[in-house]
Amino acid sequence: MSMTLERPRSAALEKLSDPKLFKEFSYINGEWCAADTGESLAVTDPGSGDFIGTVPALGTSESNRAIEAADAAFTEWSDRLPQDRAALLRRWFEQICINREDLALLMTLEQGKPLSEARGEIDYAAEFVEFYSEEAKRPNIEGITSHLPDGEVEVWREPLGVVALVTPWNFPSAMITRKAAAALAAGCTCVIHPSKETPFSATALAELAERAGIPAGVINVVTGEPAAVVEPWTQDTRVRGLSFTGSTQVGRLLYTQCAPTIKRLVLELGGHAPFIVYADADLDHAVNSAIAAKFATSGQDCLAANRIFIERPIYEAFAERFVAATRRLTVDHGLEDPDIGPLMNAAAVAKQEDHVRDALEKGAKLLCGGARSDLGPLFFQPTVLGDTPAHARIYQEETFGPVAALSAFDSEEDVIARANDSEYGLVAYLHTLNARRIYRATRQLDYGMVAVNRTKVTGAPIPFGGMKQSGIGREGARQGMEAFTEIKYVCRDYR
Ligand code: NAD
Repeated sequence: MSMTLERPRSAALEKLSDPKLFKEFSYINGEWCAADTGESLAVTDPGSGDFIGTVPALGTSESNRAIEAADAAFTEWSDRLPQDRAALLRRWFEQICINREDLALLMTLEQGKPLSEARGEIDYAAEFVEFYSEEAKRPNIEGITSHLPDGEVEVWREPLGVVALVTPWNFPSAMITRKAAAALAAGCTCVIHPSKETPFSATALAELAERAGIPAGVINVVTGEPAAVVEPWTQDTRVRGLSFTGSTQVGRLLYTQCAPTIKRLVLELGGHAPFIVYADADLDHAVNSAIAAKFATSGQDCLAANRIFIERPIYEAFAERFVAATRRLTVDHGLEDPDIGPLMNAAAVAKQEDHVRDALEKGAKLLCGGARSDLGPLFFQPTVLGDTPAHARIYQEETFGPVAALSAFDSEEDVIARANDSEYGLVAYLHTLNARRIYRATRQLDYGMVAVNRTKVTGAPIPFGGMKQSGIGREGARQGMEAFTEIKYVCRDYR
């Protein structure tokens, strides 16, 4: 933690066409505020190490003020006609679209991801706001054929209340809108804690929500050290639900903290995706898909292909093409729009080194890369390991970086068992042209999402989420909005 520093800032900030989108404050009850203590946190560009700016390090008292603001705003917001909430969400969506370039620039600066990917994430973030502006208008009352003589039976969905939204650094805009747009559409108000690595994407979204006319208190963004901000939210009975995206480790902690007040939970946690390629697959397509599934977001993606299993007859051919494609990937500062940018922090780079060293010690072969890049302290070379043994750490844990681990398999039974041998169950990828095998594997894979012969699975209309320790609940789609509602069953008799 540091006091506000007068130090040179990243020159890239001058490229913002609207500098007012760059907010170095938290946003509570419609006001931009500093910490009561005056303390702040510095944010740096992971690619260059340049200082970008600071955000306030808010503590318990400001965190409680955010709950008060959201609680005070709740009655008016939830009583509005759904089409009024829809219209405001639509205006927020338009503001995001108009400011796409600036939002992408801010994201690349603080997160490091290549500019094209940042633009893609802004589009993805906007998509949720548009989708839920429409979903807000759908009926929230369902009639049921009555089982009671003379009774009339209905199921109402009412907004949950104040909800806490906690988001990670790898998708600093989309993880906010995926939650906030659904919550607002349902009639909830929210307190948001963005990752301290990427707060400026969050404060820019709050600025645009304000410009769209979303009333004070409906959205609050509280920056700072996570435990200081979030723990009070987990304990407060006015906060009725918590939606968290991040690591399984922190998800477990928040689950425990929310237990005493029995909060509604949505947990979108880690992944450890298997990527299975059968000998009958379209080989070039499978290689291209595996490259995308492994190296998007520089490998820092909960959907990243962490274990690539290839049927033995095509193992050598796949490995050769995959290595050639990996060697072609460009690595640079995100603003240069390479294929791969820097990693988020030093711990992430150290993890790549550990996973590579451990796999090699256990018998894997280094097929390319394998070390830090000389571009800067947070860059790591795109790396491919071959013949990765099942007990290597990279086959047990999320790598969260640009290291791909290949191994061969001999039977369907063997590969499905290996794919399911994980505490995670977010997404599984499958490449084969055999329809019966697709059916069998899809049923047998213990994953919340199964992608067959394709990589992209995301989008606002689909229920995103995982099984096992990848989480609880779903985001996106109708289900993502229902997570922010409470069911009230009503039976009426007119005697
Ligand atoms: P993280 O768990 O360290 O942090 C996520 C959020 O939790 C951040 O806002 C952070 O400030 C907050 N946090 C951290 N410690 C906390 C504490 N003690 N109390 C309260 N809040 C706390 O995760 P990360 O490193 O930011 O993100 C990477 C992880 O997120 C990976 O495991 C990845 O798989 C997962 N992820 C999952 C999804 C999904 O939809 N399933 C999407 C993106 C990322």
